Amino acid sequence: MKQTFGVRITDPFHLNGWQVVELAGTALESSDACPCCLTKLETAVEFVADAGGRMRLGACPMCEYAGYIDRPSQAWFQDFYNKQWDTNPNVPAQPAEFKPNPLISAILDLKLPTTSKVFEVGTGYGQLLRQMRQGGFSDLHGIEHSPHRAEAASKAAEANVMHGDFSDPEVIANIKQRGMFQIVFSKSVMEHMFDPRALFDGASEILEEGGVLAVTVPNVFREPTPGTLFFLPHLHAFSLGSLEFLAQSYGFESVSLFEIGNGVVIIARKKTAMAKKLSRTPAGTERLLEKWMTEFCVSKIGDASTVYWWGVTGNRWTGVFKDRGFLNPILFWSGILLRRIPKRYRAIRVKKAPAQEGVPITVYSSKLSLFYK
Ligand SMILES: [Zn+2]
Repeated sequence: MKQTFGVRITDPFHLNGWQVVELAGTALESSDACPCCLTKLETAVEFVADAGGRMRLGACPMCEYAGYIDRPSQAWFQDFYNKQWDTNPNVPAQPAEFKPNPLISAILDLKLPTTSKVFEVGTGYGQLLRQMRQGGFSDLHGIEHSPHRAEAASKAAEANVMHGDFSDPEVIANIKQRGMFQIVFSKSVMEHMFDPRALFDGASEILEEGGVLAVTVPNVFREPTPGTLFFLPHLHAFSLGSLEFLAQSYGFESVSLFEIGNGVVIIARKKTAMAKKLSRTPAGTERLLEKWMTEFCVSKIGDASTVYWWGVTGNRWTGVFKDRGFLNPILFWSGILLRRIPKRYRAIRVKKAPAQEGVPITVYSSKLSLFYK
């Protein structure tokens, strides 16, 4: 039998840039099919609010995808991105310093003709398109959800970047009027999409036969566990296997599949004939549950109030310390200094709570809420 564990979040102790998103009273929609391989998801985590309301996070027993089974509607997310995400002072309004990205380096390594027509889904400020330009490509296009970033990207990369939603079929029809593309890429976008299949729907439409699609998204095995469990804007987390299933279901043939930092990357070619269906032994959810239970320090969370902390980046540093009231800030920061880790941390105050039968991790709180930044 699988281990079960219950924890109560009593206080968002030190969110360090994250904010609470209240979901109490928000209508939730449910979908328990894995978007990558269509297998039924198993409930891995259930959020239970005293004031009423439940929400589940599922894990795929076939391909090790993880994502919310219950979540607010697509319209809710559109509103969220328009009103909260893009106006948030914690999200930088200016492009970060230009740094070569390994996804683009991998594309450049393919030595594709520099006359190729290139499209980026989710350009941000245009750093990646700019890297493509520096790599010799000049026919650069893209789409970006935020109007001011679309404008910034157009300038930064001398590219034709439109403002819009790539999951909208009308938008795809407009893009196709620019002609078919030979390279489509996307970094850190699919995990935010209500339906990640929409990225492949659109990419299949605008890529010519034999064209290359390159996608990078968070790696479910490397992303910090609280990010997968509690960070609402990341609706999905992927394994190498789930990317491969997803690509194959659209008739893409995988050229390379690898991990970079906290991400997984697939580079695939569009084929005309549907690729052979992947047949695989189900991966099971044990590996995912073990990661989450270990990083969540479940064996160290007891009946007394405890501060659970984790590293902001995916370095897997997590820990707990006994709650000592007003001494907490001192203990918290000295604990970090003692570990000599020059990283930033987040922490929440938790204590042990009843486990539910059949649910590996139950997370209780007074009101249904998650986090965003
Ligand atoms: Zn799956």
